[in-house]
Amino acid sequence: MGDKLKRIKLKDILSWAYEVLKNANVDSPRLSAELIISHALNISRLELLLSLNNTIDLNLYTKIVSLINQRALGKPVAYIIGKKEFYGREFFVNQSVLIPRPETETLIDTVKNIFRKEDNFLFLDIGTGSGNIAITIGCEFPNSIGIATDYSIHALFVAYKNAKIYKLTNRLLFICTDIARSIKEHSFDLVLSNPPYIGYKNFPSLSREIRCFEPYRALVGGYMGWEFYPSLISYSFKVLKKGGILIIEIDELVAKNVKKFLNNHKKWYNVQVIKDLSGKDRVLFAKRGE
Ligand code: GLN
Repeated sequence: MGDKLKRIKLKDILSWAYEVLKNANVDSPRLSAELIISHALNISRLELLLSLNNTIDLNLYTKIVSLINQRALGKPVAYIIGKKEFYGREFFVNQSVLIPRPETETLIDTVKNIFRKEDNFLFLDIGTGSGNIAITIGCEFPNSIGIATDYSIHALFVAYKNAKIYKLTNRLLFICTDIARSIKEHSFDLVLSNPPYIGYKNFPSLSREIRCFEPYRALVGGYMGWEFYPSLISYSFKVLKKGGILIIEIDELVAKNVKKFLNNHKKWYNVQVIKDLSGKDRVLFAKRGE
């Protein structure tokens, strides 16, 4: 009897967690519960669903309760389980970095439409965060070499850890700098960036999960949102070779302004806006002129 009391059925924990998360109004309560519980048990989601009649001890139960409570307070699942998938690969994340978004995969697809797998090229990723962009390019293009920057040393610790997982530390160099001031001019074939582009004025309307848990400086670009782009674009002009390519993430609210800035600059050509899978403006492409 005593022994029985100390063990709890997974089925019961899952339905308890689901109820708690549903009542707390978090996004995807069922999926969140399954991901958190399977993470705590160190098994896959499928394994969890196949072993719902198994029981666990009180220690594990207490651990799960604590993680579910964090989720109920709005903490994103990726920060609780410490990982997020991007372009088919898993990335370690913590609250020093933005959680990689599926929209950003459009940026990778754009690079894949331009370069062939075997091409040699040198790229710069400005504001690398978890390193998801630079590392994905490094993995998809085995002859590429990249420099990835971030103003936050804590973000670079995360990016370096991910680069080590994917064995890229010999082809990726990390530099802690605001934009990338210390870099030699006219040396890159490609500049990539997913800069902060949320307007401060729109910040209060973001979900609690983003507002309260993700790094503010990785999200907000200024009062309107587009303020980071002029310096990013001017800087990219300096470090790109002639004919070099700029591929940066945007959203619909900043697209017009950023495109206007690029066209006024008159030093860029082939300026294009590329849409993501849900049909929204997501990537800006341009070639550096003379
Ligand atoms: N490069 C990272 C990403 O795309 C981080 C971007 C950022 O911090 N603004 O998710």
